[in-house]
Amino acid sequence: MSALDSALHQLAEAVKQLGLDDGLHDMLATPRRSMQVAVPLRRDDGTLQVLAGYRVQHNLSRGPAKGGVRFHPDTDLDEVRALAMWMTWKCALIGIPYGGAKGGVAVDPRLLSRNELERVTRRYASEIMPIIGPEKDIPAPDVGTDEQTMAWMMDTYSAHKGYTVTGVVTGKPVSVGGSEGRGGATSKGVMFSTFFALREAGVDHRGATVAVQGFGKVGGLAAQYLHDAGCTVVAVSDVKGGVYNPKGLNPAALLKHLRSGAESVVGYPGTDTITNEQLLELDVDVLVPAALEGVIHEENADRVLAKFIIEGANGPTTPDADAILEQRKAVVVPDILANSGGVAVSYFEWVQDLQAYFWSEDEVNDRLRALMESAYDGVSALSAERGVSLRTAAQMIGVGRVADAHRTRGLYP
Ligand code: NAD
Repeated sequence: MSALDSALHQLAEAVKQLGLDDGLHDMLATPRRSMQVAVPLRRDDGTLQVLAGYRVQHNLSRGPAKGGVRFHPDTDLDEVRALAMWMTWKCALIGIPYGGAKGGVAVDPRLLSRNELERVTRRYASEIMPIIGPEKDIPAPDVGTDEQTMAWMMDTYSAHKGYTVTGVVTGKPVSVGGSEGRGGATSKGVMFSTFFALREAGVDHRGATVAVQGFGKVGGLAAQYLHDAGCTVVAVSDVKGGVYNPKGLNPAALLKHLRSGAESVVGYPGTDTITNEQLLELDVDVLVPAALEGVIHEENADRVLAKFIIEGANGPTTPDADAILEQRKAVVVPDILANSGGVAVSYFEWVQDLQAYFWSEDEVNDRLRALMESAYDGVSALSAERGVSLRTAAQMIGVGRVADAHRTRGLYP
């Protein structure tokens, strides 16, 4: 099942639970704007390569569109559409005044030099410029992009405008209008979601065993924060494979290892090598999928033994797998809740940029925790009240709020 199939399936379930009519369902399933652009890149060796770039604004009924930019070789329009739709429900669920968007370029950033990456980023930013802006659509980092990518996008947009516009993207370095606490925000949110889910089940998080798939921006710091909070992180992985130590890994040391030039976590001293598939099937308390979508599916779901699955990634569990996990009574904290810390602090960053007044890291973290706790409590209460999964409850709240905005605004003309 593709990411778009999963997203549409989840939407249909929420629409059914909410009793929305077919017209509104159609409206919510259809992106408002899909833009495909050519991104010509002059390689360092002088040759020219034309890459495909995308920006999809799924919904604009509650405010400007918001969502990350992905640089990955498999990115295509359908994937971006799915990711944009999830952003719409996520922003509505946590109550921030945005619609959902997503963008991407079909490219493997690991195969580009820094100069090539900068050229791809600047050309992509200028191609999508007609539809982005602080009051229109605000990109952020996602897979394969980072705060440097955002600094180049902000600079390109500002150069075209003729003045500095910090609020056009979020996830920027603090030195150019970024927010304190944005770097680790998604991971902090994953940690809070883990705490809330375990607390609700009466399980102490201290000593809980954790496996994290995808040791990138989200998974790397989620592993570190959970370890620092007393969990035992027994396995982590990246695109090349995973490492396992039943006594526990030291994520901070692993992150340092990567920062000092190692290409993968695989081969780290004192660990056994495992595959990404084996990592998903470890008998741990908590599994954090934090890489790509569709990794827990019909074929492997019955071998996923974790009691709590905290979705750092967007769309890691297909609807077929959800049904299998539900039967097994595994608790799945869904992506639009579990990884919403990133967009929450992106919202804080945008607010700070618009006001040109910046907050302390403690203030950011306190507001993040409060926002996520209130979203989690709302989802958990609705799940209990209606006897539906946390995912369906989260989707119902998100989709319901967007549907309300459509009804209240009415249809033009
Ligand atoms: P990233 O590029 O920083 O890290 C991705 C990690 O996944 C890397 O370790 C990479 O090696 C690994 N990976 C890639 N392909 C893989 C594969 N096929 N199997 C196993 N591992 C693989 O990206 P990120 O920003 O950490 O994003 C990870 C996930 O979290 C994505 O689903 C993204 O949409 C989601 N997300 C990110 C943010 C954010 O703020 N960055 C916010 C919300 C959700």
